[in-house]
Amino acid sequence: MDLIDIGANLTHESFRHDIDAVLARAHAAGVAQMLVTGASRAGSEQALALAHAHPGVLHATAGVHPHHAIDYDADTEAALRALLRDPAVRAVGETGLDYYRNYAPRAAQLRAFEQQLALAAELGMPLFLHQREAHSDFIALLKTARDQVPAAVVHCFTDTRAALHDYLDLDCHIGITGWLCDERRGTPLRELVREIPGERLLIETDAPYLLPRSVRPQPSHRRNEPMYLAHIVAELARDRGEDVARIARQTGANARAVFGLAAPAAQR
Ligand SMILES: [Zn+2]
Repeated sequence: MDLIDIGANLTHESFRHDIDAVLARAHAAGVAQMLVTGASRAGSEQALALAHAHPGVLHATAGVHPHHAIDYDADTEAALRALLRDPAVRAVGETGLDYYRNYAPRAAQLRAFEQQLALAAELGMPLFLHQREAHSDFIALLKTARDQVPAAVVHCFTDTRAALHDYLDLDCHIGITGWLCDERRGTPLRELVREIPGERLLIETDAPYLLPRSVRPQPSHRRNEPMYLAHIVAELARDRGEDVARIARQTGANARAVFGLAAPAAQR
């Protein structure tokens, strides 16, 4: 298989001691490439450093997550701008709105999101987006920028049918995680994934978060990692009534098109 994990938080401290083993297990499980999520200024710098250490296999995003929106100032924007010039950085984000946790005040979230939308528009780069419990404000802002960016990925989609169709109507791509495998709260998503056209579908682990609850055996440390993308794609294939190889091929092609990734030249 030739899977691409479009959302892995590989700069998380839980990966610090064994990132090479994590990447080797991903490779063995058929995960050919990963996009390392940048969620803060420092985190985006670390994501790029990691991508440089594993050229072709890892790429990065650069952005400020809504949780960190109060840190978004002119200095941060200048730092992001510098990161976004590097060819290994493939999207502006993670950016968006999170009214579920509300770690940052909404006004700060809205401002940081608006400024990152403008940055993506100015640079003509794709967006890597986060939305939780904030759909109406989110879609209103996204609409203003959507035709100025080449692609917009709503990562870790967990929302309603109406929200899904708003995103599809705006020509967004939809990232599906192991949320699907959660027997308590993933059931509605199992129905909705059938409504996502194949050419808009992307897959991701959101590692180290969202360990698929149906993975057996469950690792004792509860850490999610990119190798479990193979498990997610198998469940997704079952829910869509398609075969795994076909979804792997399609989501891989979608990820390469959206983020402009070349297939890795050689095996590590
Ligand atoms: Zn997110």
